[in-house]
Amino acid sequence: MAKKVILVGGGLGGLSAAIHLAAQGIPVTLFEKNVSLGGKASEKWIGPYRFDTGPSVVTLPEVIESPFQAAGEPLDAYLTLIPIEPITHYFFADGRQLTVWRDPQKMQVALKGWGPPAYDRWQRFLQYSRRLYENAAPIFLYEPIHELGYLLRSPAFWRWKNLFLPIDPFRKMAAVNGRFFSEPALAQIANRYATYNGSDPYQAPATLNLIFWVENGIGAYYIQGGIYRLVEALEKLARKVGVEIYPDTPVRRIVTHKNHVVGVETDKGFWEAEVVVSNVDVRTTYESLLGKPPPSSVQMGEPSLSGLVFLWGVRWRSPLYHHNVFFSADYAREFSELFKEKRLPSDPTVYVAITARTDPTHAPPDGENWFVMINLPPQREPLSEAAIAELREKVVQRLQKSIGFSAPYIQEEAVLTPAHWMELGSAYGSLYGTASNRWWSAFLRPPNRSRRYRGLYFAGGSAHPGGGIPLVLLSGRHVARLIADTHFPKGKNVEGKVCE
Ligand SMILES: Cc1cc2nc3c(=O)[nH]c(=O)nc-3n(C[C@H](O)[C@H](O)[C@H](O)COP(=O)(O)OP(=O)(O)OC[C@H]3O[C@@H](n4cnc5c(N)ncnc54)[C@H](O)[C@@H]3O)c2cc1C
Repeated sequence: MAKKVILVGGGLGGLSAAIHLAAQGIPVTLFEKNVSLGGKASEKWIGPYRFDTGPSVVTLPEVIESPFQAAGEPLDAYLTLIPIEPITHYFFADGRQLTVWRDPQKMQVALKGWGPPAYDRWQRFLQYSRRLYENAAPIFLYEPIHELGYLLRSPAFWRWKNLFLPIDPFRKMAAVNGRFFSEPALAQIANRYATYNGSDPYQAPATLNLIFWVENGIGAYYIQGGIYRLVEALEKLARKVGVEIYPDTPVRRIVTHKNHVVGVETDKGFWEAEVVVSNVDVRTTYESLLGKPPPSSVQMGEPSLSGLVFLWGVRWRSPLYHHNVFFSADYAREFSELFKEKRLPSDPTVYVAITARTDPTHAPPDGENWFVMINLPPQREPLSEAAIAELREKVVQRLQKSIGFSAPYIQEEAVLTPAHWMELGSAYGSLYGTASNRWWSAFLRPPNRSRRYRGLYFAGGSAHPGGGIPLVLLSGRHVARLIADTHFPKGKNVEGKVCE
């Protein structure tokens, strides 16, 4: 019988792994427990309002292109990536506002009222974050860093001068940013990028400032029609390269024998395979699918932020842009509540994304589709109705204060609580796997290849290199590379022939 790979979960990381494998002629079967693929990247219509229910910002377009390149298909035959300008509009607690542009001229104008050195500082920070990205990404994102052989073969690894000090791992992000920007509001913007992988800027290494470059230097993108079009495109691509997809088919157990993977059990029976890729959260994979406690390194990983999302069909024409952030008055306190005290934020920063700004068909002419999100600490229990109502009231008040919003404008509503992400398998309702709050977090994050079970691999936000669309796509690519090299060496790139 031909060897095959079974994928558990059809999130973006799972789809990426499936495409990168099948494009090399490796037979892949994917089981997804829900009727539709995408996991956290999903879509919902409420009456005439359309929403992406998960990610709203796409970054690193070259990574988005990677599965299409692997399959030999042009990305633009499937998707249209639209750069978003301005990138984000910020509202500060003291009433000031700032529109952030990628275009340097527009940014210079925007920063005119922020003191003479503000634009110069902004540009210097961009260059600093660019250096971080160029030094760190080739190894920490683009290589499976837990695999010594792969690291040693990477030319990036041998650029020894780029290791450690020039990636600024030993200083805290917020401390660096506070010194860089004499204007605290600009430091608050820079600090916000820690949340892009669910981390705390007051604890995280300054290396995470590389995300500032990813968004403000390389750019923030949207996908025409909604982020969910990416899921649809990847599903189409996966089917085209021959991935067998079974939606609505939860895997109940990953079956092992003497520390080797032998297959999976579903409601439709047992499926034999000597290689299984879990796209399910690593902790959940161990606890629920293998029935074992996770390795201590997995247990030591600090869960990333969770979140509370309100999907509001709003009958109002607001002054907002595609991406908007309403900052809390005391960011340090907010993160202390989220990470140290592990309690609900007393003054949450509010993020509002409105795709109808770019795609007018997503809301009626007199309305807007608001994706409203606040950060929450990782959760053990579902949120109570009272807690949700209290947080909603805080959000409404914040929006009322800044832009005159009023609760009666909300015509349609749905709420996504941490329980929603838990149903997809996320331990603690974390949105991005484990946080990067320590300089060693990248090494502690679960590797793409299980150390405990031969034939078991991990793709997705809880495995290397972490959460966020481009990173989970990369995790799928890493997994495919490891599997092809280890289990299908002859089959690799052999004119699409199935490997025996
Ligand atoms: C609210 C929110 C906002 C976000 N914003 C952004 C953003 O703006 N930009 C960005 O880049 N990223 C963002 N992210 C993060 C990004 O969405 C995730 O990192 C990414 O989508 C996770 O992909 P994944 O591969 O880890 O799989 P997941 O999305 O976690 O999917 C796992 C899949 O496995 C399935 N599954 C679970 N158990 C089983 C089983 N037993 N059998 C079969 N299937 C199973 C699930 O149903 C699911 O489909 C956001 C996430 C959320 C939730």
